[in-house]
Formats: sequence, C-alpha cells, structure tokens
Amino acid sequence: MSDSYDVVVIGSGPAGYVCAIKCAQLGLNTAVVESWSDPKGKPVFGGTCLNVGCIPSKALLDSSHKFTEARDHFSAHGIDVGAPGIDIAGMMKRKDKIVTQLTGGVSSLLQHNGVTIVQGKGKLLSGRNVEVTAADGKKTLLSATNVVLASGSEPVSIPPAPTDDAVIVDSTGALTFDEVPKRLGVIGAGVIGLELGSVWGRLGAEVVLFEALDTFLPMMDTQVSKEAAKVFKKQGLDIRLNSLVTGTSVKKGSVTVTYTEKGEEKSAEFDRLIVAVGRRPRTKDLFSSDAGVTMDERGFVFVNDYCATEAPGVWAIGDIVRGPMLAHKGSEEGVMVAERIHGKPVQLNYECVPSIIYTHPEIAAVGKTEQELKAEGIDYKAGSFPFAAIGRALASGETDGFVKIIADAKTDRILGAHAIGPSAADLVQQMVITMEFGGSAEDVQLMVFGHPTMSEAVHEAALAVDGMAIHMPNRKRG
Ligand code: FAD
Ligand code: NAD
Repeated sequence: MSDSYDVVVIGSGPAGYVCAIKCAQLGLNTAVVESWSDPKGKPVFGGTCLNVGCIPSKALLDSSHKFTEARDHFSAHGIDVGAPGIDIAGMMKRKDKIVTQLTGGVSSLLQHNGVTIVQGKGKLLSGRNVEVTAADGKKTLLSATNVVLASGSEPVSIPPAPTDDAVIVDSTGALTFDEVPKRLGVIGAGVIGLELGSVWGRLGAEVVLFEALDTFLPMMDTQVSKEAAKVFKKQGLDIRLNSLVTGTSVKKGSVTVTYTEKGEEKSAEFDRLIVAVGRRPRTKDLFSSDAGVTMDERGFVFVNDYCATEAPGVWAIGDIVRGPMLAHKGSEEGVMVAERIHGKPVQLNYECVPSIIYTHPEIAAVGKTEQELKAEGIDYKAGSFPFAAIGRALASGETDGFVKIIADAKTDRILGAHAIGPSAADLVQQMVITMEFGGSAEDVQLMVFGHPTMSEAVHEAALAVDGMAIHMPNRKRG
C-alpha cells in the first residue's frame, strides 16, 4: 500500500516549502518530506536558510552592526552612551527566537495550505515512488504524479582543516560561538567568510581571512570588489589573497594554521577557525540508480531551463541544481515548477537574479559585470555615482561606495547594476524590476526619485551612463 499525491516535494528549505505551498494553492494534492528534526523529534522546516543560513546570519549581522553604531558612530550624532557592552548569550537568544518564529511560521503555512507533512528521509525510487525512512527506521512508500527534489546543500570540508565543532567550525558553528574569539581565522574570503568574519570582527575579534585565489570577489564587478577591499581593510578585516591553508593543529583550545601566502610558508594562531570554502549539493542517497535522474561529477542534478530532470515528472530545484546557491533563486524555481506542473509554461529569468553580500556597507549586483561584457565583446556604456554626493547618505553618515549602471551602447537597455553602499540590496532590486521590464538607462533618467533618498544614487548613476549626472562633474564627452 502507498499513499498517492499529485506532488511530493523532498526537502522543506526555501525552494521546497515555497514549491509545496504554491502547488497546494493551485489545488494539487501535495506532500512535503523533511528529515530535519529538533531534539524533541519534531520536524524542523525552512532548511539551511531559516535555521543555519540567511536568517540567523542576518540577525547576528544586524546585532553586531548596532553594536558598532553605538561604539563608533553615535558620538558623531551628539549621542553619548558610554562604552557599550556585549551580551553574547542575549544576542544568540534573540537570533534563536527569530529562527523559531520563522520556522514555526513555515510549519503553520504548510498546514494552513493543506500540505501533508511526512517526517523522514526521502529517496526517489523508479516510477516516481518515494521511500521515506523515519528516524526509527520505519519505511513508508509515497507515490506521486510529480516529484520535486529540493534537498539543498551542505558545507564543503577540506582535509587540511577538519571541523571539530569546537575550535574549527563551519558556518553553522560560527553562528553559535559563546564568546567573542580574540583571534579568528577564516578560510575563504567569499560570501560566508565576509559576512561571519564581519560579525565577529565588529564584536572585537581580530579577523584574518585566507583566500586561495589571487583576486578578491571575482564574481563582482571589478570596480565594486576594489572598493569593497578598501572598505573591509578600513574595518580591520585582514584579507590575505593567494593564501592556501596546508594544515591545522588544535591544542588547548587554540589552532595553529599553516599556509602558503604567494608561495611562502607561514603560520598563524587563532582561538577559532571558520571553514567557509563553499557548499556542495546534498544529493547522496537522494535517488536510486534506476530513478532516471542524472548528476554531474560534483553532485548537481541535471535539469533543463525549467528545472525538469531527465526523468519524466521529476523536477529538481534550489541548491542541488546549476546556478547560484541563493534562497530566492530556489524559491522562484519552486514557483516555476509548481506552475508548470499545473500546466502554465512559466519561465524564470536567470539574468535577473540579484545577489547580495550583507556586510556593511552592503554589496549587491544583478546582470552583467563590466568585465563579463568586455569578455563577451558587447559594446556598453557605464555610469556610476558615489554616495558621498548623496544628501541622504551624508545625513546618515553612510558615504562609502557607489551605484553603477551598465547599459547596452546601441539599445540603451540596462544590462547590469552594481552597488556597494547603504541599502545596496534594495537599490539594486529597483534595477531588477527595471531590467525585467526591459528598461533603458533613459527610462530611469526620466523617472522621478524621492528626495532625499539613497535611491537618488540610482537616478544619478543612470544619468552618468550618458555623462549627464547633475550632482557631480561628468567626464568630458566626445
Ligand atoms: P536547503 O535550505 O538546504 O533545504 C533543504 C532541506 O531539505 C533541508 O531542510 C534538509 O533537511 C532537507 N532534506 C535534505 N535531504 C532530504 C531528504 N533526503 N529527505 C527529506 N529531507 C531532506 N542565501 C540567500 O539568498 N541570502 C542569504 O543571505 C544567504 N545567507 C546564507 C548564510 C549562510 C551562513 C549559509 C550557509 C547560506 C546562506 N544562503 C543565503 C544560502 C541559502 O541558505 C541557500 O541557498 C538555501 O537555503 C537553499 O535552499 P534549498 O531549499 O535549496 O535547500
Ligand atoms: P563562496 O564560494 O562564496 O566562497 C568561498 C571562497 O573560498 C572562495 O572565494 C574560494 O576561492 C575560497 N576557497 C575555496 N577553497 C579554498 C581553500 N582551500 N583555501 C582558501 N580559500 C578557498 O562560498 P561560501 O562563502 O562558503 O558560501 C557558500 C554559498 O552560500 C555561496 O556561494 C552563496 O551562494 C551562499 N551564501 C549566500 C549568502 C548571501 O546571499 N548573502 C550568504 C552566505 C552564503
């Protein structure tokens, strides 16, 4: 005997739970399978994002930012609060409360929408049957017209720095330190390294980031990564490029890291070490060999532009498929798949997926970088505008960074937008909307922007694309 559904979703992260809710909204009989449980054995929803990713990291980023505001910036506003103290336990309690509130919210939403919750580890068998193994080993069989794989990702580990959940930790461990390390090492100056390095650096740790590549943030527009390197240096983050960690040795609660920097052998000692060298898809034991689903050598499930796998009626979304490992990308794939299962040929515009690094200032981007356009031989024009010339940014004391807009030289259509600075994520989102509507630099030039707002940097950057910014001298044209 097996239970039958229109759709069975494996995994309740931002990709899986959004897909399940959307399917249910469209009238499909839907079940979601989730293996994560709390110490009481209750299912935990929301995946990496809500439990150990986006949300807890942003809670700590916001708490630590408020601390630096009070410590370093209030006095400039004429506010004297003395030297602020840090209550790590209180900070963690706040973070945990936010996580519980949101994961509980997902649970209610699934139930409210009539999604059946099946607790246990799901495995796709042939013929769109899903075997679920509960924590006690009991197996249940679900059959479905459509199966959506959404099992997410996990941190990559590297042999020279095995995690011990005490001194050497991955991103999850770095969200639960019970005190501020005096010296913190981070392997990988990518998104997680910068965000979590910033949290502990702001709270007083001396932070050293080891980055194997010789380029800092190579996926960002070069103008932005250069500015970011300057700003982070000013903030005290010690980013060592071309540095490959070759070994670690843990003794009495501290770790000695040996590494080669630009070929030279060196070592350094830390109280804690975070390994943040990327994430890999969680596809081990997710499907049987006769399920008809295939993967590449790194474990990413092969899908077409619409997230259909090679097995009819089997879809895969989120971190286990190509593209950036971002919560919002997975969620929108979930919506697209639900609509397609229901018969509407919805498409996702992968050119318009924004990416954000939630440091302070924020870094955000959508579309093409200048270096990508050069490499592709596309004729473009670019304009940027500094926050230092934006009244609202001066009023808030947030003058680092700029907004940059890139448009096609012939059609004027916006091809990319990049920002480092206050509210960069929200400013770039304005350009996501513009790009989705096929907007041009001139369209933005002719829009009315509220004054005084940070958004005026977007307006001026669009004007600068044609050398026509009002509030700064433009480069001579012609
Ligand atoms: P996941 O969120 O990993 O969820 C997968 C779920 O499937 C899990 O609940 C898991 O238990 C379950 N599962 C796995 N296998 C099975 C199985 N066989 N049976 C049943 N259940 C199973 N992204 C952003 O966009 N913005 C951010 O600010 C951001 N910050 C991040 C910060 C950190 C520290 C980290 C680690 C990640 C961050 N990310 C961020 C990335 C984001 O968390 C992921 O891209 C996103 O969670 C992926 O969603 P998903 O649904 O594909 O997978
Ligand atoms: P990442 O790919 O962003 O950065 C990893 C960095 O480690 C890279 O710069 C890489 O060159 C470096 N590296 C790899 N091996 C190394 C080694 N042996 N020694 C030194 N450096 C090494 O990966 P991440 O920071 O672990 O984050 C994983 C993913 O999670 C990201 O790609 C992103 O998709 C997602 N994420 C997103 C956000 C966000 O949207 N704000 C935040 C956190 C995580």
